[in-house]
Amino acid sequence: TVSVVLFTSDLRVHDHPPMRAALEGGGEVVPLFVRDRAVDRAGFAAPNRLAFLADCLVDLDRALRRLGGRLVVRSGDLVEEVSRAVRQAEAEEVHMAAGYTAFARAREARLRQALEARGCRLHVHEGVCTAVPPGDVTPQGSDHFAVFTPYFRRWQAEPLRTPLPAPQGLRVPAALRSEELPGRSGLSGVSPGLARGGEQEGRERLRSWLSHHAHAYEQRHDDLAGDATSRLSAHLHFGTLSAGEVVFRAGRSGGAGAAAFVRQVCWRDFHQQVLAARPEAAGQDYRSRDDRWRRGREAEADLSAWREGRTGYPVVDAAMRQLAHEGWMHNRGRLVAASFLTKTLYVDWREGARHFLSLLVDGDVANNQLNWQWVAGTGTDTRPNRVLNPVLQGRRYDPDGAYVRRWVPELAGVGGLDGAAVHEPWRRSGLDRAACDYPDPLIALPDGLARFRHARGLV
Ligand code: FAD
Repeated sequence: TVSVVLFTSDLRVHDHPPMRAALEGGGEVVPLFVRDRAVDRAGFAAPNRLAFLADCLVDLDRALRRLGGRLVVRSGDLVEEVSRAVRQAEAEEVHMAAGYTAFARAREARLRQALEARGCRLHVHEGVCTAVPPGDVTPQGSDHFAVFTPYFRRWQAEPLRTPLPAPQGLRVPAALRSEELPGRSGLSGVSPGLARGGEQEGRERLRSWLSHHAHAYEQRHDDLAGDATSRLSAHLHFGTLSAGEVVFRAGRSGGAGAAAFVRQVCWRDFHQQVLAARPEAAGQDYRSRDDRWRRGREAEADLSAWREGRTGYPVVDAAMRQLAHEGWMHNRGRLVAASFLTKTLYVDWREGARHFLSLLVDGDVANNQLNWQWVAGTGTDTRPNRVLNPVLQGRRYDPDGAYVRRWVPELAGVGGLDGAAVHEPWRRSGLDRAACDYPDPLIALPDGLARFRHARGLV
């Protein structure tokens, strides 16, 4: 049998069940990637992710060549392109990883129909993009967990498969043409400090992270300037690393740091299983319906100041500027910046989520939309009315102000703003303040809090 392996969010050769299954047939295999135009039309093709994706495809092709094969790249409508490749290769089956967004599901259903019409079977593999497949653990009486801790308990008890090695002896039908691999050049709007993509890069990062840094994760993961998290999120998003393998290897390396890290990876599965059960939560409030959000014209000026990192709250601005520069933001920064937009400025979480998705290299429908809802208090958060105070957060997670000075250079070296004082530049008066080109706070925190409490009916 000839089989097509359709790569989507699983751009790797290690621990890849669809490829393993395709090779079991003993025949030729077509490793296929389709640049789906529908993704562009849906506005999801952000330059940072396209650049990272280009690295991943080049690396995947290199890895496949080492195994005797190569990557076949096409662009257009995914269903049409897969059908075309099936016809050209006279393939009898297609293997792919399960996806959990509404988009992925609808696409998969269309593909199944088109393939079955030509007598070709579609095999959709679970557990390729998550460590534990959505729906494998459920509470009694529901199709998903809405609270993290009980989910985590059950998730931890699930057996993990031993990661699969890269397959050997790939044979790709010679006649099958590929488009040129996309490159980074020619893409505009890519963040200057964007990380490199690709499985090799991801595996090296995982190895070095587990051996040198994971042990300190529990104590340091919230330290904004220390930057002590794994930065594996984009690799997990594009599947250059398998979530199952990450958990497996971290579990083996042991220690409290690795355990705390595994717990975070579980958050990723948690959000995937919420989205799989409630795909509409990508755009609608998961729990409460909050119709009082500021949006459109009313929110425009605040939104631009927030996007540009000019809110006058240094830790928020530092985080937003890190996002623009790197296409990535520290988790604590994401929490503070999102809380500021939704709770202090009371702007609709969807506006913030959209901006994040336009820049984040790890931008992911489940993780982004559901984390935004968690912060906005419309999602799975058990404390929906908690407001993070950006000054207190700054003092706590950037105690000597190094993160702020790195990303908001106009506040570095200003007299009287040493150490944690940098989190409250408005306290400086006179010449020092006039000398630094930094905006006044967009809103006084008590005013933001009063509006929030009023809108939520808490007064
Ligand atoms: P580490 O701290 O090293 O964690 C390891 C891995 O665990 C991460 O790579 C990630 O896959 C997972 N993880 C960690 N925290 C979370 C979390 N809160 N929710 C789900 N998974 C988590 N993460 C994304 O991958 N894509 C997004 O689009 C995204 N948007 C977010 C938006 C907001 C408003 C917030 C508050 C968080 C968002 N996160 C998102 C979650 C988290 O901030 C990032 O996964 C993390 O900062 C990535 O850095 P890291 O790889 O160094 O994480």
